[in-house]
Amino acid sequence: MAINSVKMYISEKNLIYNMEYLKSNFNKEVLAVVKSNAYGHDINLITKLLYKNGYKNFAVARLVEAQKIMLNTSLSQAEILIFESIGKDFLNIIKEAIEYGILPEKIQIKIDFGFGRNGITLDYLEKLKKYIEKKNLFFNGIYSHLFAVCHRDGLKIIKKFEDVVNFLGKERFKMIHLQNSSAIEKYGSLDITTHIRVGMVIYGLQGDGFFDKNLRQVFSLRGQIAGIKNLESSNYIAYNLKSNLLINNSKYIAKVKFGYGDGFLKVNENTKCLINNKEYNITLITMDNSFIEVDENVKEGDEIIFYPDISFSVPILNMNIYELLVIITSRVEKEIVDEIK
Ligand SMILES: *Cc1c(COP(=O)(O)O)cnc(C)c1O
Repeated sequence: MAINSVKMYISEKNLIYNMEYLKSNFNKEVLAVVKSNAYGHDINLITKLLYKNGYKNFAVARLVEAQKIMLNTSLSQAEILIFESIGKDFLNIIKEAIEYGILPEKIQIKIDFGFGRNGITLDYLEKLKKYIEKKNLFFNGIYSHLFAVCHRDGLKIIKKFEDVVNFLGKERFKMIHLQNSSAIEKYGSLDITTHIRVGMVIYGLQGDGFFDKNLRQVFSLRGQIAGIKNLESSNYIAYNLKSNLLINNSKYIAKVKFGYGDGFLKVNENTKCLINNKEYNITLITMDNSFIEVDENVKEGDEIIFYPDISFSVPILNMNIYELLVIITSRVEKEIVDEIK
């Protein structure tokens, strides 16, 4: 059995707490975005936990991600929205799909306000309305993307979206959604929507331009010190001269089995980790190991925590949280725990 490895612990309690908080605070259902391996948290674990607690609506970016969820037979009632487009001529695709026999209750219509990713553009709206009314269709949902960074432009898109939904018939759509994490923090609860479509906040991650103290980080990356080396008798740390690396001139270096092969990039060098509740400097990161400058208090087997609060790492590393987390590789074992101490 492997010892002293770093694992990603997933707190069921924090995840469900965030879901309940979002639901009651914004008074909306939550469409949980679990793309990119649930933002590095493991799509299988996260969908399993959400499903078990009654949350059965998931959204992903790609077809292969949806297939991954569908392979899990214990999630048979899950409803999965895939953002990826399957062609360019959206109105005809919808028509073809329906004529082919796909139920409109399985289809969500995406409206494109100029973000240009995918969806029906406004010039096709009349035709879409005629088609929907002629066939008297009721859909699983309608949505768009609130891409504007500037508040006033955002309000304009919200207004346009409302107009489109009302024009097509609000009652024809079971789910209506527009906002991702930063948009719920910016614009609050919108009358027109039934759901918020969020990733970041369900994992308790703080994003660009918003901070919500009620959210709880769901993951915890922790392991044990695999070994301590006394530097008095050696000039080297891994393949490097210690004189080039040490910033505190420490006497001891601790080795931890966590490196860029696990997705812990070298940009994390000279940031801090926590050992026995004290901060220490991460001096060197190799493919398989990280080396930490420590003092005589740190012993082999002591617990070490990486990214204790990942929002603090973002300004230091000049990378966003999404990037930092989705690159955590499958070599890092993920494990569900009720609570993180
Ligand atoms: C990724 C994504 C989301 C979720 O974004 P967060 O910022 O993580 O909340 C919502 N909608 C679409 C279309 C997305 O691609």
